[in-house]
Amino acid sequence: MSMEDYDFLFKIVLIGNAGVGKTCLVRRFTQGLFPPGQGATIGVDFMIKTVEINGEKVKLQIWDTAGQERFRSITQSYYRSANALILTYDITCEESFRCLPEWLREIEQYASNKVITVLVGNKIDLVEKREVSKQRAEEFSEAQNMYYLETSAKESDNVEKLFLDLACRLIREA
Ligand code: GDP
Ligand code: MG
Repeated sequence: MSMEDYDFLFKIVLIGNAGVGKTCLVRRFTQGLFPPGQGATIGVDFMIKTVEINGEKVKLQIWDTAGQERFRSITQSYYRSANALILTYDITCEESFRCLPEWLREIEQYASNKVITVLVGNKIDLVEKREVSKQRAEEFSEAQNMYYLETSAKESDNVEKLFLDLACRLIREA
């Protein structure tokens, strides 16, 4: 068995308003770092991380939106073949939460009907500036049949859990 081999390959796509922390979540998970300053945009379309789950090698191809979210130019090609979507908002930004229905409409329009969507409330380290209660987010995610998790890319809270739980679910439903 060569180093290139894997048992599963999944494409995971991050979506959500600009500034909610998508790039930081990807970099925290794939590189173990929190980028300083505003320069968080990565110059590649996706990053790869291979994890091992119950002895199985799971290769995760994680797609970031690198600024296109501002221009609403994310279209079918971006969602096509995504096995999972991480729909992210910022718990300190009400506006990013209020935009979620718009993102859900895009998912419905462009993504596969088998896609697994996880709702993520990021920046939980800024809980004193919270604008969206956990209860409100949980009610919303339950109504939409989505799994919900609060994370901090900065403090590394729940970031591993987010991707590993998602990989486990993807294997179960593969
Ligand atoms: P994107 O536009 O969704 O990719 O968001 P970025 O990853 O570029 O992050 C936008 C801003 O939020 C940057 O200034 C980050 O440093 C900051 N940020 C991202 N995640 C967190 C977090 O978990 N906690 C805090 N306090 N700031 C964060
Ligand atoms: Mg970004």
